[in-house]
Amino acid sequence: MKQYIFGNWKQNGDDSLVEQMITTLTTLPKQNDQVVAIFPPDVFLSTARHRLQTTDALKLGAQNLSAYADGPYTGEVSGRMLQQVGASFVLVGHSERRQLFAETDDIILAKFQHALAAQLIPVLCVGEDLHAHETNQTLAVIEKQLTAVFAKNNYENQELIIAYEPIWAIGTGKVASKEQAQTVHAWIRRFLNEFFSKDQAQDIPIIYGGSVKAENAQSLLGMPDINGLLVGGASLDPQSFTSIALK
Ligand code: PEP
Repeated sequence: MKQYIFGNWKQNGDDSLVEQMITTLTTLPKQNDQVVAIFPPDVFLSTARHRLQTTDALKLGAQNLSAYADGPYTGEVSGRMLQQVGASFVLVGHSERRQLFAETDDIILAKFQHALAAQLIPVLCVGEDLHAHETNQTLAVIEKQLTAVFAKNNYENQELIIAYEPIWAIGTGKVASKEQAQTVHAWIRRFLNEFFSKDQAQDIPIIYGGSVKAENAQSLLGMPDINGLLVGGASLDPQSFTSIALK
């Protein structure tokens, strides 16, 4: 399986960061078994795509998409539009969307389906908050989040990615230990058998996010069910993001 290194810029960055990041990342030796992508705010996707025209060393993703197809939805951006400006991936159900923007399981399901319809690869984010973590409810929370999307439809043969992001580790400097993350990833992989054929369940990439830095990236990536990383804060610095991506 390929390794995925994704940088979620959140509501940060500007034209000059796009330029610096692309200059730095496209000089990295291309690894065929690795996919590196940045997820800047949507307004920078078009510029980034034009800069990347001659290379596929770096891919682009969006952080969110509308739950609706094109139409009268002021302020929204559809999957089709994101795909047209160069996004290959889109985050769906990031904890900040769930918590700060009240995205429910039904909204997340609609976004997931719109992403696939627009030929984007959805990165479904799941993860428990601190209370659930401390009261041993991690797997119950993730089971509910995965079931809300996967039980409603058959996604066999569709390309998708799952990101396990414990909320207590996002932006807090507290990283899940590699063993903790591996245990949850292995459980997710087993649970996918409920919804997918054995082969597909085996092949769905499961990436980890939560305070990933250059110092902890390689040890997390060394675990058998951690197929990549979703990096927030450290993805805003070209040098840090590059050292995370460098094997
Ligand atoms: C994220 O929000 O996806 C994330 C993992 O953030 P950070 O790396 O800053 O914890």
